[in-house]
Amino acid sequence: MEKKWCGYHQKMEPVSKFALNAFKESGLQDHCKEAQNTMVKDYYDRNKELCSKKSSIYHKWYSGEISTEQKNRMVTKLNAKYGVKTRV
Ligand SMILES: [Zn+2]
Repeated sequence: MEKKWCGYHQKMEPVSKFALNAFKESGLQDHCKEAQNTMVKDYYDRNKELCSKKSSIYHKWYSGEISTEQKNRMVTKLNAKYGVKTRV
């Protein structure tokens, strides 16, 4: 069976485990479907965590516990920690 290098698991895996990607030279994704699922789940988990942390910061800000400057600093720090580029 033909095999392809999985960039996520760092090993050779059967081509059948890879999803098609017309934009890639090989016509396949750089990582297997399993890795794809893990990454999507990771992304949502991280996002969920980030959102709940952010909303608690905003809550403190609304209730006057922290200043706008403190709020901005905390949000910027969170974004950096979670690798978020946009200022939300
Ligand atoms: Zn893999």
